[in-house]
Amino acid sequence: MVFGWLIRFVVVMLLLRLAWKFVSGLAQGATRQPVSGPVRGASLVQDPVCGTYVDQGCAVTARRKGAVHFFCSDDCRKAFLEDDVSSA
Ligand SMILES: [Zn+2]
Repeated sequence: MVFGWLIRFVVVMLLLRLAWKFVSGLAQGATRQPVSGPVRGASLVQDPVCGTYVDQGCAVTARRKGAVHFFCSDDCRKAFLEDDVSSA
């Protein structure tokens, strides 16, 4: 009879272990959220004129002194280039 209790105890412990794994897995999956914000990927660049983060793929670009600059709009690009001319 002692072995009967022992086996029951082991089975219950195994079931609890499985249940805990299942529950903790669910909790981990629920709390895992996609990373958001300005630093989402390497393709995001900051507009030096207005500070907006823009995707390199759809940003307006300007080449100056060998470096490529990215802007959210043509207006920012123009302002950046005009500022460079006035300061030079
Ligand atoms: Zn801008």
